[in-house]
Amino acid sequence: MTRIFNDPADFADEALAGFCDAHSDLVRQVDGGAVRRTRPAAPKVAVITGGGSGHYPAFAGIIGPGFADGAVVGNIFTSPSTQQAYSVAKAAHCGAGVVFTYGNYAGDVLNFGMASERLAAEGIAVENVLVTDDVASAPPHEIDKRRGIAGDFVVFKVMGAAAEAGLELSEVVRVGRKANALTRTIGTAFGGCTFPGADKPLFTLSDGQMGLGLGIHGEPGLFDTELPSAVELGTELVRRVLEEAPSGTAGGRIAVILNGLGSTKLEELFVLWRTVAPLLREAGYTLVMPEVGELVTSLDMAGVSLTLTWLDEELEEYWTAPALTPAYRRGSVAGFVIADGGDTAVDHDAVTQAGYEATEASRDYARLAVEALSTAARELQEAEAELGAMDAIAGDGDHGRGMVRGSSAAVAAAVQAFESGAGAGSVLMAAGDAWADKAGGTSGVLWGAGLRSFGERIDDAEFPTSDVLADAVRAFTGRITGLGKAELGDKTMVDSLLPFTSSLTSAIASGVDAPEAWSTAAADAAAAAKATASLRPQKGRARPLAEKSVGTPDPGATSLAMVFAVVGPYLTAEPSKQLATADSADS
Ligand code: ADP
Ligand code: MG
Repeated sequence: MTRIFNDPADFADEALAGFCDAHSDLVRQVDGGAVRRTRPAAPKVAVITGGGSGHYPAFAGIIGPGFADGAVVGNIFTSPSTQQAYSVAKAAHCGAGVVFTYGNYAGDVLNFGMASERLAAEGIAVENVLVTDDVASAPPHEIDKRRGIAGDFVVFKVMGAAAEAGLELSEVVRVGRKANALTRTIGTAFGGCTFPGADKPLFTLSDGQMGLGLGIHGEPGLFDTELPSAVELGTELVRRVLEEAPSGTAGGRIAVILNGLGSTKLEELFVLWRTVAPLLREAGYTLVMPEVGELVTSLDMAGVSLTLTWLDEELEEYWTAPALTPAYRRGSVAGFVIADGGDTAVDHDAVTQAGYEATEASRDYARLAVEALSTAARELQEAEAELGAMDAIAGDGDHGRGMVRGSSAAVAAAVQAFESGAGAGSVLMAAGDAWADKAGGTSGVLWGAGLRSFGERIDDAEFPTSDVLADAVRAFTGRITGLGKAELGDKTMVDSLLPFTSSLTSAIASGVDAPEAWSTAAADAAAAAKATASLRPQKGRARPLAEKSVGTPDPGATSLAMVFAVVGPYLTAEPSKQLATADSADS
């Protein structure tokens, strides 16, 4: 139970602000998260961790010399947005490239991946290292589908130390991937965790039961068993983790973490350690700087996990290297040069608004784009409850809210860009970024990224012809299918998007006027959305509850058809009269 909060919706932000104040000697709050208070004296690779809130000391608690350079801080158990990851990376980057490292979750992979594309486009070298230590989350032959849990800590630590030692980006990545490949974790839960303001936990276990194979986002254990004694529990954890020993390792030196999930007493962990440590030693291992404590938590969950990393000489050097962070200190840190590089936070408004250059024709279309977005936002407001109810059948019920949040943020950003002189492309790109930043949820990331690609194709130079418009729609579609990897029939928004796109493309290619082609395509999309009712979801949160979803159309396919139906008249409008006359006078 979380008892100290104001508005539950502000919990993560308020916790971050309080943390940054309490540790202002080491960290500094920036848009999207926190970075080291002081910059390294010489350029070094910036190691940036991240994920949702609720896991303290992961991820902001481990910022500092010898460890992370920054942490991207999302809402509770929610992936941070692309904009947040981008913003923290810009603030932490100091000339030698950036590596994002995080647990393997779809939302994080999408958002850190898109932030990486944006950084790369600005010429910043960037890499991603995913952590996949949770042996319970997928079988060994699908090891790269596993989630990241407490093994995060070891992987982040060795990467932080490697970067501090001056290794270049590709080397820090190599060390991180090696550590991940040699790290295994098994967890157990004794009781669920409760969101601030919620009146019941995300899951419960009956008295005397334990869930083996827990997740760190309130995912219950994969199967429940009788609560064993401490000796039996320790024996079981060691057995299960050793069963998964990476091939080619036998005995040798290991890093060990016995991790509490949030409301397990450290004394309980020590009781457990009394069994775990001797068993590992009996199995021929030397335990190198083991950690018994809370390193990756799950709000107030009761539970523990055991992590082993098989060390070679290089990994041991970085595992044992000094670190100085708010939540974790190791070794002598006297050697760290803490030179204050001053306040180097980027001012994003200044970055994104700098110097728009647009032609009159593009400004004309920008006005239409703003109207299209406003109309879509109004339509989505009206449909919010209906879309939410659809998503609640087999998903989590937030689709209406997410679409309203995303589209309203998009309108606000579009208006601001328009008023600062942006052309249509820039207006649409700003709208896409804001949508992805504010919507939350899978659909928000995809809509935001799609809109950005649409804007890139429209650009700030011309009033788009029908061909350019069709091209931009294909760019929107390509981006969404490229990122989400959904195919026709998976029961996602792609099921109304692909029919729309092929209908529009073929009509325009055969010479149909844009307004007519668009309205026919929108009608096709609406029919396709309705037809998703009979499908079983293959992607997204609804997949585990596929049967329940049959008979209800896909919420994302439905909202997409709604939006496409109302934006047509604006996006396919003719250039305004004034402009048309001016153009013909010129020629
Ligand atoms: P979340 O599922 O994260 O709660 P929303 O509720 O906002 O996000 O959106 C759900 C919709 O997202 C689904 O109805 C589906 O149309 C769409 N969706 C989910 N996964 C994918 C995917 N991989 N590709 C395309 N669309 C997807
Ligand atoms: Mg949802």
